[in-house]
Amino acid sequence: MRVHRDGVSDCQHAMLAWYLESMALVVARYHEITLKRGNRSRFTARLVENMRRATAGLPIGRITDLDGRIVAVLRDDAAWPAVRERLARVFGIANYSLAKSLPRAALESPGAPAPALAPLASAILDELRGRAFESFRVLTKRADKRFPVTSPRVSAEVGALLKEATRARVDLESPELTVTIEILPREVLYSVEKLAGAGGLPVGVSGHVLALLSGGIDSPVAAARMMRRGCRVSFVHFHSVPYLDRSSQEKSREIVRRLTAYQWDTRLVVVPFGDVQREIVTHVPPAPRVVLYRRMMVRIASEIAAKIDAEALVTGDSLGQVASQTLANLTVVEQAARLPLFRPLLGMDKLEVSDEARRLGTFEISIEPDQDCCSLFVPRHPTTRARRAAIEAAESALDIEALVCAAVEASTTERYRFPQPASETVSEPLRS
Ligand code: ATP
Ligand code: MG
Repeated sequence: MRVHRDGVSDCQHAMLAWYLESMALVVARYHEITLKRGNRSRFTARLVENMRRATAGLPIGRITDLDGRIVAVLRDDAAWPAVRERLARVFGIANYSLAKSLPRAALESPGAPAPALAPLASAILDELRGRAFESFRVLTKRADKRFPVTSPRVSAEVGALLKEATRARVDLESPELTVTIEILPREVLYSVEKLAGAGGLPVGVSGHVLALLSGGIDSPVAAARMMRRGCRVSFVHFHSVPYLDRSSQEKSREIVRRLTAYQWDTRLVVVPFGDVQREIVTHVPPAPRVVLYRRMMVRIASEIAAKIDAEALVTGDSLGQVASQTLANLTVVEQAARLPLFRPLLGMDKLEVSDEARRLGTFEISIEPDQDCCSLFVPRHPTTRARRAAIEAAESALDIEALVCAAVEASTTERYRFPQPASETVSEPLRS
């Protein structure tokens, strides 16, 4: 029996080909992963795993990395709208389609000089049945260059057959419908729509970070940007209950629930911050208080990150957006961090961030009114030019270590899973 390089024998492959042919498939294509030659299998394995988690509870069968694209078997065509919606949130997918497969053998007959494309065109016509469209194009990709007909030639020949059968016009620039053909070593995949994926890298390939989540518009977007670069994100939220109400906490939970649909398992650490603020207010004049709050947040977050093995902190700061986010203030805040502090929105303006929040689905939650802890005991004109020496002098009146320790001790951790319902969210201890 012949065994191919990928360890699949002819017999196994014949079964796989039959299986694929009889099923609807989801084909997910990736971009950047292909660039990372040495790491490619790690990236694709993660993407396969993430697609599996994203589609939990839906009728998805085998998911495999097939010659440079991920192919998933869809056991029930009726589930496609649900699968499509879930896959739109899987980072690492450049674009994806509902597809079918035809074994290459179906195009080849012994003695024929070239493969026949008519069976392929007729299979595509089957897929197009019931669809009305006036213009189309065919795009072919030959993943297997040994296939003796070039990609443009396949597109032209199949296009001509489709045109004759449908009477639709060929439009290479802006067609109403695009037919995609992918020629793999053993099968031909074909699809009649291509959807834009979320792009970026699969969550989990770039490490673990802890995002400071306020309940505002910016911090969820900052967290999602890190996810899109392949990070798994845990969250920490600071609140001032009982000095203020619970609204910021509720918003943070709702945002975390929403963002969990992009990474399927999320930890939220909720930290009571009111006592820290009370200490600051007792010992420090109003102007630099916000900078001191932020430095304390960053210190507490550094401790929490160490306990949960997160390698960096993330905030939603954007340079100059508000008084607390001047270059001088951001610098002095960062100096209190024990880990790298990333600010993925630093160069973005509010409109861009808001648009991104809308696309993520967090905007509507963020704009709900709340009582944010940083509004507690702060002056109308806060410091915009913090200097390290002056801030450290102000902090010398505080027992920083004790405050950090008490806040970490008093924190609680919640776990969110997708697609589990919100009511099943569990609380768990912070691992130490
Ligand atoms: P956001 O919309 O994210 O709240 P913002 O423009 O309102 O941002 P600030 O309120 O100055 O800016 O907060 C800057 C960053 O500090 C936030 O993006 C967030 O990362 C962090 N932060 C602020 N408040 C909190 C909080 N209560 N809990 C956790 N992180 C916070
Ligand atoms: Mg805010």
